[in-house]
Amino acid sequence: METAAYKLKSPLRTLCENVKDSDIGKEFTLKGWVMRYRDHGGLIFIDLRDYSGIMQVVFDENLDKESFKTAKKIKNEYVVSITGTVGKRPEGTENTELKTGMIEISAMRIQIINASKTLPFQIDEEADVNEFTRLKYRYLDLRSKRLKDNLIFRSKFNHIIRRFLDDKGFLDIETPFLTKSTPEGSRDFLVPSRLNRGHFFALPQSPQLFKQILMVGGFEKYYQIVRCFRDEDLRADRQPEFTQLDMEMSFVEMEDIMSLTEELFKTIFESLLGIKLDLPFKVIDYDDAVNIYGSDKPDTRFELLITSLSDIFSNSSMNLFKNTISNGGTIKAICFQGGSNILSRKDIDELLAVTKDFGAKGLAWTKVADNSALEGGISKFISENEKISVIEKIGAKSGDIIFYQADEKKTANMVLGRLRLYLAKKYKLIPENRFELLWVVDFPLFEYSEEEKKTVAVHHPFTAPAEKDLEMLESNPLSAKSDSYDLVLNGEEIGGGSIRIHNPKLQSKIFDILAISHEEARLKFGFLLDALSFGAPPHGGIAFGIDRILMLLRNENSIRDVIAFPKTQKAYCPLSDAPSAVKDKQIKELGIRLSDTRI
Ligand code: ASP
Repeated sequence: METAAYKLKSPLRTLCENVKDSDIGKEFTLKGWVMRYRDHGGLIFIDLRDYSGIMQVVFDENLDKESFKTAKKIKNEYVVSITGTVGKRPEGTENTELKTGMIEISAMRIQIINASKTLPFQIDEEADVNEFTRLKYRYLDLRSKRLKDNLIFRSKFNHIIRRFLDDKGFLDIETPFLTKSTPEGSRDFLVPSRLNRGHFFALPQSPQLFKQILMVGGFEKYYQIVRCFRDEDLRADRQPEFTQLDMEMSFVEMEDIMSLTEELFKTIFESLLGIKLDLPFKVIDYDDAVNIYGSDKPDTRFELLITSLSDIFSNSSMNLFKNTISNGGTIKAICFQGGSNILSRKDIDELLAVTKDFGAKGLAWTKVADNSALEGGISKFISENEKISVIEKIGAKSGDIIFYQADEKKTANMVLGRLRLYLAKKYKLIPENRFELLWVVDFPLFEYSEEEKKTVAVHHPFTAPAEKDLEMLESNPLSAKSDSYDLVLNGEEIGGGSIRIHNPKLQSKIFDILAISHEEARLKFGFLLDALSFGAPPHGGIAFGIDRILMLLRNENSIRDVIAFPKTQKAYCPLSDAPSAVKDKQIKELGIRLSDTRI
């Protein structure tokens, strides 16, 4: 990766990649780390690595005795200073993969600036080193080209965002970290207050309340690249602290925020990846997303679409299908093109186990035969007419396999959506190096949470209901849609936001539906409610998960690979050994007593 720093030329040293093929015969001093060391007796080679790249250095008999002795002492990752002249590498020993692969430095002087202990793992080698060790010695892993390039990319990414938003008149305004619980609904990280004993700050799950208050304060365009904190159980793409691009605007509609976002992503993709995105992005209704892709963050890079077959099977002689429909359920299917040639009977049995893990009751299937009839699996229970209709509706061809789900709509969609992704990954149906960005809109405002046994907000409680559904808030709140939008990249949600409620009365009504009492609302969000009652402008915003976006753009599997100092999946930092126990005195000062024995 090129950065401006490469062009800086210190008078005392030259960066490896600043030495050019045309410099043959010139003298330079290079300083850096010994990346590879090869001792051939009278001839020693090292690959010297600095921030810019790599240079081969050769020590031969031209070197005085003392320096040659020093060169013999060098080990991997020693920091050295080498002065020498540039030569052409002997024919046949060039390395076309390296920018400096045609030349080498013939050393005249060497100085060991600093030694290194024996390394716990080799840098830049894709060796099977466990992640804990990599994180413990993060500074060593950061010397690898991959992590270095990821962090340079990240820095440029942030820079492009800042420049773009600054040009559009956005202000970068910081909001507090020591604050109150915010409404994203995850568990908070709490910070005990020493000066206000028994009281706690919460680290913000996002700057949501403050950015809305900035709008009430008259700032029309706010943004921040900001750390957010959520104390969740971690998965591959989660960290207890992560970075968002957070934005809020006044006097805007959904479309304004969406088109600004599209322009921003167009700029990012063009400047960083050289990819021209087509605008506007595709927009998919939430209902279509879940019915056709089985997910509210659809991956549209491949087909395998879900088709409803309920109309065909409503009078079926197959009891399972018929009864599912009469009990309010649905029959849905996906058609795996050419699946008969790809999947063995054993593979199909494995898929059954996989879908059971997804929560399916079973997995029915049929093959599409040469004569375009269905065979195998449940085909013997399906009438001839039904077979013809299924093949026609789903667009199946001979050699395909159809997988069916008979279940409650939500489960059938979810299982087929996950099966769709599973098949696509396993059988490589996803085109590589393709980026598909799309919006999902028309989300429900509320959903019923089985876990909490109550109605909860799908986005957060400050999201405005769609204007056309305001009436429904009384009669059928669970059917009301919201003015919210999610941005999806390759099947991953990378951002989301909404138009907010700016009317305190409407806000109270939403709290009523969410069974948040007046007292609770005052306690948690009183300051926002007060602000809304002093002439709040209409406003809306969005936030993007920067770590996740970078992970996708850099083609990494984990967000840890795009964060300089990430934590493990147990929210632990092996580098600094945090979190760790503290002195009793510190705990006492906070007015706190630990209930469990310390570990
Ligand atoms: N605060 C929201 C979140 O972090 C995003 C938004 O509504 O702007 O998910």
